[in-house]
Amino acid sequence: MPNIEKTPGGLPLSEGGSGESVATSHPEHAARPASACAECRAAFQGSVLRSAATTRRSFPWRRSERSSYELVVAEILLQQTRAEQAAKVFPTLVDQCPDWLGLANMPTPDLEELLRPLGLQKRRAAALQALAQEVLERGLPASASELEALPGVGQYMARAIAAQLSNEVVAPIDTNVARVLERVFGPRRLADIRHDPDLQALALALVPRSDSGGYLVALLDFASAICRPRTPRCDECPAPACRYRWENMNSCHKSETGSS
Ligand code: SF4
Ligand SMILES: [Zn+2]
Repeated sequence: MPNIEKTPGGLPLSEGGSGESVATSHPEHAARPASACAECRAAFQGSVLRSAATTRRSFPWRRSERSSYELVVAEILLQQTRAEQAAKVFPTLVDQCPDWLGLANMPTPDLEELLRPLGLQKRRAAALQALAQEVLERGLPASASELEALPGVGQYMARAIAAQLSNEVVAPIDTNVARVLERVFGPRRLADIRHDPDLQALALALVPRSDSGGYLVALLDFASAICRPRTPRCDECPAPACRYRWENMNSCHKSETGSS
């Protein structure tokens, strides 16, 4: 059994990172996300971490020697944008603006032109330069709560940066992460991901203390390669217990044995 600890919110937190397989199948625990048991959570966490060996994507902001500047810039480019698209612009941007000072000093029309292939170039350029100015004046904070106070930085981005830069145990939840967790453990209660108490507690309980940044990357790659938005690859999925798969198998069974 994995080591189980308690989060401040009371849900058991798995240490994780061992890669050990936990054979379990408790679809009945998916009635509410927060009610999924610690064993199911540990099994899911292990599946995601192990899947990284085959699903890991290579992007320029994932180099081991990338700077904090590069990571933050990448997160801004990734807003409402596919990673493959952001990867086309990122190298040129960090080449022409290699640090916060270069970004702040770049003529705004030139920056907008550089960002044009991604769309929203005016908004992105303004966000990047406002952030550059703030960081030059006050420095880049390390914690998610402080990062979220920066201009243009929301809950997801603040947590994603804190997890990857300082291994803070936080749960960044974007639409991809929410989709996976809801399929596996059950639907959230509120439309707004940021304020759903069940989804937030569940996502946090799944984060391994040993490597929150690595887990986030693995989870995003799992969402992209396996638990895809339109066509999840359930037949090849290593997650041992999943509400979505269980319900679909049951509905197939019902239709095959239906009352004709
Ligand atoms: S079994 Fe299917 S729906 Fe469930 S996590 Fe895997 S790919 Fe996603
Ligand atoms: Zn369970």
